[in-house]
Amino acid sequence: MIKWTLKRIVPTKIKRMWHTRNLVKAGIQPIKERECNLCGFEGYFSVVGRPLRLDALCPNCGSMERHRLMMLALQGGELPQMNDSKTAVLHFAAEPILERIFRERFDTYVTADFFVDADVKLNMEAMDVADEQYDVIIANHVLEHVDDHKASTEIARVLTKGGVLLCQVPIVEGWATTYEDPSITTDEGRWLHFGQGDHVRFYGADFRERISAGGLRLVHEFTAEGTDVLRYGLLRGEKTFVFQKV
Ligand SMILES: [Zn+2]
Repeated sequence: MIKWTLKRIVPTKIKRMWHTRNLVKAGIQPIKERECNLCGFEGYFSVVGRPLRLDALCPNCGSMERHRLMMLALQGGELPQMNDSKTAVLHFAAEPILERIFRERFDTYVTADFFVDADVKLNMEAMDVADEQYDVIIANHVLEHVDDHKASTEIARVLTKGGVLLCQVPIVEGWATTYEDPSITTDEGRWLHFGQGDHVRFYGADFRERISAGGLRLVHEFTAEGTDVLRYGLLRGEKTFVFQKV
């Protein structure tokens, strides 16, 4: 029992100490120890992103704020469809840490991507999938890469009646209108204007209407509040949107 306990605890403690030492050596003063609700890690998170975000990346499983937010929504029962193993799920650009959890949870779970290896190669704007095949489609940080009208129309077609789209996007709530400019096509220009070299827009508050226009309706916006934001190292105001097939 003692041996087993030591095996479990010592490496974790050493890993945490080593990680903290590296952060300080790099001139980064961590603010607060956080908790990862995906892998159970407790300690200082790493920096990630461009521009860099402090307290963002779990050094144990690689989760970022958006993944921990999604898990918080699931754990809180905010997305009831995700608690039924019979739910058929299609997950675009599946994040490895979420994929591992969802693959165990659902009888039918399919990952999709156009550029990298996945269960199926799919173009979200024109999916090679029959109508009404999936109860849930997950697409975190995907819609800002594609023609979102075509994509949301396709998502509505492929969802079963009452099925839902769970998604997260870069959004500036203070902007009434989405910022996009098709003349900006270079990697450098897109980094500057849209925050990443392969993004084609930065969403404003009209994101809801843009996605609804494809045949969906917004039913829920989940955001973490209060001490959960501090505990899990989340981005204040970041949202998981839930749209339902009309
Ligand atoms: Zn973790």
